[in-house]
Amino acid sequence: MVKTMHVYEGKAKKMIPLDERKFIMEFKDDATAFNGEKKAQFKGKGWLNAQISTMLFKMLEEKGIKTHFIGVAGDNKLIVERLKMYPLEVVVRNVVAGSLKKRLPLTEGTELPEPIVELYYKEDALGDPMINYYHAKVLGVGEDEIKEMEHIALRVNEILREYFKEKGIILVDFKLEFGQNEKGEIVLADEISPDTCRFWDAKTKESLDKDVFRFDKGDLINAYEELYRRLVGEA
Ligand code: 5GP
Repeated sequence: MVKTMHVYEGKAKKMIPLDERKFIMEFKDDATAFNGEKKAQFKGKGWLNAQISTMLFKMLEEKGIKTHFIGVAGDNKLIVERLKMYPLEVVVRNVVAGSLKKRLPLTEGTELPEPIVELYYKEDALGDPMINYYHAKVLGVGEDEIKEMEHIALRVNEILREYFKEKGIILVDFKLEFGQNEKGEIVLADEISPDTCRFWDAKTKESLDKDVFRFDKGDLINAYEELYRRLVGEA
């Protein structure tokens, strides 16, 4: 099948076809929140998210997680495998924050007895609603596929939680997206960055993620740079 050479432009990234098998994933400096209602640009955000995603994808690959990461193509660009994307967002939570507070009578910051996995339908027009296995089936995603995505997401959580703990950071929650490769395997896609995860400083509980922008908690670039420095081990 001939694949489209169409450029897909999202809110924070551009997917530029490189050939039949690869995309360039370009990280933009744009930030959006609340389904695009709040918008801004932060010079350097694209670069920081590209670096952080690269480090995390490489580390996950070393631990046996299949990801779409192939290589780096410049400052804010990665080369990734073309996949047939699932229209889903898989969220994993370790600590109560964000939308979980609207669902359960728990206080922000409470550690959950075990991680919670949630499924959302990725559709801006509907505001990314939470869905279950029955809804996913109607969307053409089978129970076995969802179970595998949940299994991978929980394994990714174990790996990332431990990794960030060593850097003095609490991995509060995060969102993953998956696709299927030509062999029919489920592969971790999209990005893993402070745009898609909540990271709190273990001592101060300060946000080192997009909540800084969502809730006007300070300077986004300072927060993302602090996270980056912790990852690369710079003072
Ligand atoms: P919540 O449901 O609490 O708003 O989000 C849970 C976690 O998933 C947070 O780390 C948040 O950043 C991430 N997340 C959920 N949906 C989206 C989304 O549509 N875009 C991005 N960038 N992150 C999301």
